[in-house]
Amino acid sequence: MKKLFDKLSLRGKLTFIITLTSCLVLVLTFIAIIALQWMSLRNDLLQDTQVLSRGIGENCAAAMIFNDQQAAALALEPLSSTPHIVGARLFNKKQEIFAEFYQDLARDSSIDQLSAAIILRQGHTFSSTYLDVFEPVIYEGETLGQLMIRVDLAKVNNVLIHYGWVGLTVFFIYSLLAFLLANSFQRLISEPIKSLALSMRTISQEKNYSHRVQKCSQDELGSLFDSFNDMLSEIEIRDQELLNSKVHLEHQAHHDPLTKLANRLLFHARLEHSLARAKRMKSRLAVLYIDLDRFKNINDSLGHDFGDKVLCAVSERMTSLVREADTLARLGGDEFVIILEQLRRNDDVGRYVEKLLRELAQTIKISDQKLHLTASIGISLYPDNADDVDSLMQTADIAMYQAKNKGSNLYQFYSADMNSNTRESLLLENQLRSALKNKQLTLHYQPQIELKTGNLIGFEALIRWNHPELGLVSPLDFVPLAEASGLIVPIGEWVLYTACKQMKKIQEQWQLPLRMAVNISPRQFLHPSLVQTVAEVLYRTKLKPGSLELEITESMVMGNVEQSIGKMNEFNKMGVELAIDDFGTGYSSLEYLKKFPISKLKIDQSFVRELGVDANDTAIVNSVIALSKSMGLEVIAEGIETIEQLDLLKEEGCDQGQGYLFSKPLPKAALPSLLDSFLVTDPEALSRMMQNNNGY
Ligand code: C2E
Ligand code: MG
Ligand code: MG
Repeated sequence: MKKLFDKLSLRGKLTFIITLTSCLVLVLTFIAIIALQWMSLRNDLLQDTQVLSRGIGENCAAAMIFNDQQAAALALEPLSSTPHIVGARLFNKKQEIFAEFYQDLARDSSIDQLSAAIILRQGHTFSSTYLDVFEPVIYEGETLGQLMIRVDLAKVNNVLIHYGWVGLTVFFIYSLLAFLLANSFQRLISEPIKSLALSMRTISQEKNYSHRVQKCSQDELGSLFDSFNDMLSEIEIRDQELLNSKVHLEHQAHHDPLTKLANRLLFHARLEHSLARAKRMKSRLAVLYIDLDRFKNINDSLGHDFGDKVLCAVSERMTSLVREADTLARLGGDEFVIILEQLRRNDDVGRYVEKLLRELAQTIKISDQKLHLTASIGISLYPDNADDVDSLMQTADIAMYQAKNKGSNLYQFYSADMNSNTRESLLLENQLRSALKNKQLTLHYQPQIELKTGNLIGFEALIRWNHPELGLVSPLDFVPLAEASGLIVPIGEWVLYTACKQMKKIQEQWQLPLRMAVNISPRQFLHPSLVQTVAEVLYRTKLKPGSLELEITESMVMGNVEQSIGKMNEFNKMGVELAIDDFGTGYSSLEYLKKFPISKLKIDQSFVRELGVDANDTAIVNSVIALSKSMGLEVIAEGIETIEQLDLLKEEGCDQGQGYLFSKPLPKAALPSLLDSFLVTDPEALSRMMQNNNGY
């Protein structure tokens, strides 16, 4: 039953409940009425029969006194006027039938049940079919006999059966009516719920949470509608918030937070799109890879906040020069890219880039500070240089480096012969480039000693790459790569700046007249902006030029001797010292050597290693020392590892020395304790340092 009920629709349930309730009420009412009616009919009958039996009993008393049975029978005769009386019997004291009466001639045999056994008792009994009334016949206080009257209850029962039929008919009509009414009234409740359910379904299907349901009443249903509408409002608000944050996140994911330009991700997508369009329309396209020149210097000397402002100013300037149809993006750091679409001729790109460089070179004013910024631009063309996104980017990048190597404020179209770099070296190069950005590069400092006195005279700055996977990478492994890719230029600038800043700090803190030797690579030396870079570094770090010594090798000078000498002279004028590193391994052309405005020769460690062991090497070391003496140059031996080597060098009159015997190259953090020991003129300082150096 419960299962059946559960299966019904809400409408069915309501109809069922209303109909059932009203029918039950009707049935109960009807039963109550029938019961009352039954009781009242029986009472009436009893009372009537009792009155009748009393009267007849009195009439029979005289007949019984005189023992006149006929008179007694006559006294019973009036009972015939009451049709529902079946019969009556009059018993005498001996319980013998004194007189009888039967309504029908066909004597009702049930009358025989009326015996005198229950004589002398007043009262009545009801059976399902008869009512028996007993009335004692009394005369002057003496009981003469007993009158018994049997009444047929058929009349009462017939009335009840009649009522039953009427009731049943009424019940059916009523049930039908109740069902019809319930079925129609239940709509008042089920219709709103149905419409609410329908609205819910539509809303959840269409996801249209702006929809509202129409309230139809002020009752609980009304408040259900209100609650539903409230819930929709909540969802709508939450949806809007979600949408906003999605839009915001999407914007963040595709834009550079600083300049608000497209970022690498969006740029990639746009380039893919532009390329597809160019392929479809058979048009040309250019990718310009823009890198600001010496931006790192600005960041290091004026702070990152200032650097950020510069980047914003530059991006604004570039935005004003980019057409609506073209894309400008910031790839990170000081690298920007532009996609130029629908080009007619490659020359157009050249003209555009020249204009861009001109505009970028205009003075930028930030917080009352005037800046002259330039950029290097590499250009790759579709379809000439590459026909997919990655190749276009790579070739534009290579071209940009080429432009940077040639000097600042230049642009360069990509050409196939630039692509000597293999993919692997590009990968490593990329890692190296990010190494600089991610501060994975660090400097170690190796002390240089005046051999005669044992005094500390300075340090040589030696670069280290703290690779996240490979650990500490030797410069012998990555400097050639940096050299080949041109990355040595920005890296070298960083080394110069960091070493000079460190030396300035040492001089200020320990008041020692020390010098910092910095290695310069061939490409760095040939770079047109080296002199300017050094001047800038000295200006920014406030280090005296005499405290900086640049280590160059013979080979890098021999390529273009005149130009190199010119550059060396410029350093000379500036007051920066020059030393020839790894002396003896290159040309060692005495003809040129005398023309070089240098102050020091550095004997290569390969000769020092075999000093006193190999006669040739000993001879070379000795002659280099002699040569430098005759030329009035200082001489320093590198790679001193043993006391024997040291003694031999001292004997020959070598001025300075550097090597593991004194100390390995030290990280910045290890410098204070070393410098502290040299602060007071302590003859033991050197030997103490020599003892301690194994710790590093
Ligand atoms: P280098 O300029 O001739 O530097 C001397 C090298 O000899 C350093 O190696 C130093 O650690 C090592 N050395 C010093 N004393 C001893 C010793 O007693 N025994 C031995 N066996 N070795 C000793 P490092 O640091 O590995 O540098 C190697 C080369 O990498 C340098 O040779 C230099 O040419 C280049 N390099 C290092 N830092 C820089 C830099 O900042 N810029 C450039 N362009 N080149 C650098
Ligand atoms: Mg060196
Ligand atoms: Mg060397």
